[in-house]
Amino acid sequence: MANKKVTNKKATKKKATKKKAPQKDHLFDSILELVRKTSAEIPGDVQKVILEALEREEKNTTAEYAMNIIKANIDLAKKKSQPICQDTGTILFFVNHPVGFNQTAFTKVVHKAVVKATEKGYLRQNSVDSLTGKNETMNIGPGHPDIHFHEHNKKHVEIRLMLKGGGCENVGAQYSLPHTDLGAGRDLDGVRKVILDAVQKAQGKGCGPGVLGVTIGGDRGAGYVNSKEQLLRKLDDTNSHPDLAALEKDIVETSNELGIGPMGFGGKTTLLDCKIGALNRLPASYFVSISYMCWAYRRLGVTLKNDNAIKDWLY
Ligand code: SF4
Repeated sequence: MANKKVTNKKATKKKATKKKAPQKDHLFDSILELVRKTSAEIPGDVQKVILEALEREEKNTTAEYAMNIIKANIDLAKKKSQPICQDTGTILFFVNHPVGFNQTAFTKVVHKAVVKATEKGYLRQNSVDSLTGKNETMNIGPGHPDIHFHEHNKKHVEIRLMLKGGGCENVGAQYSLPHTDLGAGRDLDGVRKVILDAVQKAQGKGCGPGVLGVTIGGDRGAGYVNSKEQLLRKLDDTNSHPDLAALEKDIVETSNELGIGPMGFGGKTTLLDCKIGALNRLPASYFVSISYMCWAYRRLGVTLKNDNAIKDWLY
């Protein structure tokens, strides 16, 4: 009996001292794969509207030719796992995380993964020191990559990535209403007028057909950030605000009657979609912030498991 006790004690001790192998953390690999796939593959919802637009264009026109080139680029990039466009754009991460998440540690891993993705050619070395013009930091520097953190009540982490080209960023615009020259007052009709003005001004630039992300209100900074967040919405969703849903539809239909067409060559497809949100504003201000996304609409996302391996793709 006494002997049995000793043996049991020994077994317990042995069990207690046996160390568990540390769980591998897959965050670096997950982010690297997210960057690779985002750079090479257009999400399904965007691809669908591009194919619908191609069908709509008249046969044997420059517009149809342009849409076919776009389609061929998309197919080839996916097949070869290469960037869809040589401009791999501003790197924007939108991270939803639970309480207690370590943003500093996460940012360090993102930086490492972005450097690796640049070395591998998933991203072009594309981030320039604004004062010296030097481009020698493998996409890492003040403000780049641009990481937006949001705490949510769920237990898992969601990471969305957008690669936003420079050409389309250049044709983004912000209007302060009222706008006398355009006859745009502080109401939805005024919002409509300035959005259509931005579409006119973008013609032939920004690599259309494009998608607009628009925010009504906020201050200038918040308005622009939120206009990019509108571009995280799936293209087949419906705005929960009926007036904004109607305005989104109207903007797309009206823009596509302007005859600007793909790449500004004329045709039926000037916009693929338009997403509009609203933020509170000061009584003194009424901003309309517009972000233009080119046809190379690179936006994907993942949810992570406990060990930070990819669990699901969000688009
Ligand atoms: S705007 Fe878009 S399609 Fe045009 S060069 Fe830049 S990333 Fe490429």
